[in-house]
Amino acid sequence: MTTYCVTGGAGFIGSHLCERLLNEGHRVVCIDSFNDVYDYRIKIDNVLKSTNADKTFRSVDKRTDLQQLPGIVNSSRYKLIAADIRDQAAVDAVFADERIDVVIHLAAMAGVRPSIEDPMLYEEVNVKGTMHILEAMRKHQVRKWLCASSSSVYGNQKKLPFAEQDVVDRMISPYAATKKSCEIMGHTYYHLFGIDTVMLRFFTVYGERQRPDLAIHKFMRMLDNGEELTLYGDGSSRRDYTHIDDIIQGILGALHYVEQEERVYEIVNLGTHRTVTLLELVQTLERNAGRVANIRWLPDQPGDVEQTYADVSKAGRLFGYDPTTDFEEGIARFVTWYRGERKW
Ligand code: NAD
Repeated sequence: MTTYCVTGGAGFIGSHLCERLLNEGHRVVCIDSFNDVYDYRIKIDNVLKSTNADKTFRSVDKRTDLQQLPGIVNSSRYKLIAADIRDQAAVDAVFADERIDVVIHLAAMAGVRPSIEDPMLYEEVNVKGTMHILEAMRKHQVRKWLCASSSSVYGNQKKLPFAEQDVVDRMISPYAATKKSCEIMGHTYYHLFGIDTVMLRFFTVYGERQRPDLAIHKFMRMLDNGEELTLYGDGSSRRDYTHIDDIIQGILGALHYVEQEERVYEIVNLGTHRTVTLLELVQTLERNAGRVANIRWLPDQPGDVEQTYADVSKAGRLFGYDPTTDFEEGIARFVTWYRGERKW
């Protein structure tokens, strides 16, 4: 049985990954700080779902909740550690105590606009926190990992679609700059200490459990609440939206690849090779939600890229990645989840 350490395992992507790894019979050590970027109770719910916990959990307050949660979800195959990756001693202790085989590092301050407000926090978590993970791996001889990067490293590149061999050193937000730093630091540890690495550049991920601060979730909430939708630009900005099922397929493919191969450092796009404009996104949501949006247009926001568009041929070549979720279908499923299963 392989033991995977999933950082950020209580988050949107992390909780889906933990659930899948557990369903496949593996052991999972989940590190998450349950930060307050969005309601921590959403993350508790993610953990309960990902571990298939059949006990009911009554939320009291954050401190009490985080003390009680491990007792409810921990088992021989799952261990929840509420720790902050900025705390090097805490990270080291996890690696000293657990026999970790492979790391999937997803914990981060995510989001472009807030990174402009608080770049130092992004640097502390995304750069220093990532180095704490790498240092612990080096010290405790963990030699394989995947790390979450982002399509935002491509900045406002004009060449389309975005491919891994493109030179990317023109980031336009602190968030993107920290993700590029992770890629560079990952290569350094690969070179010096032989840590096999796949850096995954995720392209806007959506679907069940999506973060409430991300556009699709936010727009859905506004539509259902009958609120005005604030949209930036003129509606022509484009995103390569990737459904969570396809992202999990990609992460598992990359895991298999990094576990099989020796001496590898790869950067890989995980997107769909298809783009949707902001206006098309809103229209798709309107159609599926059965609501009409009342739109207020505002100028472009600093830090937002004009478009993202993934060349996914490398992921296909290396580990057979083949995103299959149709956008309309993915949005329909999201709306069903939003109106049904979602608790917070
Ligand atoms: P998320 O916020 O839902 O998950 C991140 C998790 O990391 C959260 O549960 C949070 O509590 C945890 N975390 C944050 N700071 C931490 C710290 N200091 N110590 C320990 N845990 C901490 O976000 P997500 O959408 O699931 O994103 C996962 C990863 O994928 C992130 O690295 C993000 O930058 C990257 N990414 C996401 C998208 C997307 O569209 N969702 C796109 C590109 C890249």
